[in-house]
Amino acid sequence: MKIVRFFDKNNAIHYGWVFEDQVGEIEGDIFTEYRRLELKYNLASTRLDCPIIPSKIICLARNYAAHATEQNVAVPEIPMIFLKPPSSILPDRGTIELPPQSKQVEHEAELAVVIGKQGRWIKPEEVRDYILGYTIANDVTARDLQHKDGQWGRAKGFDTFCPLGPSIVTDLDTSDILITCRVNGELRQMASTKEMVFSIPQLVAYISSIMTLVPGDIILTGTPAGVGALEDGDRVEVEIDGIGILVNQVKKPVKQ
Ligand code: ZN
Repeated sequence: MKIVRFFDKNNAIHYGWVFEDQVGEIEGDIFTEYRRLELKYNLASTRLDCPIIPSKIICLARNYAAHATEQNVAVPEIPMIFLKPPSSILPDRGTIELPPQSKQVEHEAELAVVIGKQGRWIKPEEVRDYILGYTIANDVTARDLQHKDGQWGRAKGFDTFCPLGPSIVTDLDTSDILITCRVNGELRQMASTKEMVFSIPQLVAYISSIMTLVPGDIILTGTPAGVGALEDGDRVEVEIDGIGILVNQVKKPVKQ
């Protein structure tokens, strides 16, 4: 199933399910019990919000060897994690704002795992039971501040630095799917998820040995090689086979 969160004509937000070019409301709780109502909205003319509001966003650093190489850093021996604040999320079609503190903001196209069930010390072979589905993320990064600070809270944490969506796909084989990033139509990143250093079962098991995962938590599984600059006026598209395309504009706010 493909899940979205959308605004109706009165600007009320609903969970919805997508079939072809139509959306129907979902009644109930997507994590436990729900009912799919009739398809009655046209997807193309429906305004979407982020498909989930996470309580935390856990991210993987250097989970593609070629990206570690382009950053002149080693591939870690155990997964290397950091956090982005939930306030950084941005829906499909939202605008990434370039902060005045940085001169080098970059895109990072990533597959995101959406947790569906609370868990701690999850075994790798049981991970599938804890996943609601998958979506697309752009781990926008102020690269100059990342290098300057050592700690990444600032470089990764600005408002609008976590575009997320447009939908969550619940039944997707993520072992070998293509992640692509284009800026103004120009190809920047392209790799298969099979190139991940640590697999999704390994990552979820590892993170749950540190912190309790709860429904709605998001795990960004790392970016492939090809990260690069975002400039005022750019249009950045992250595409993942089987999920869709996450599109965002980039803007330098006039007043800061
Ligand atoms: Zn990243």
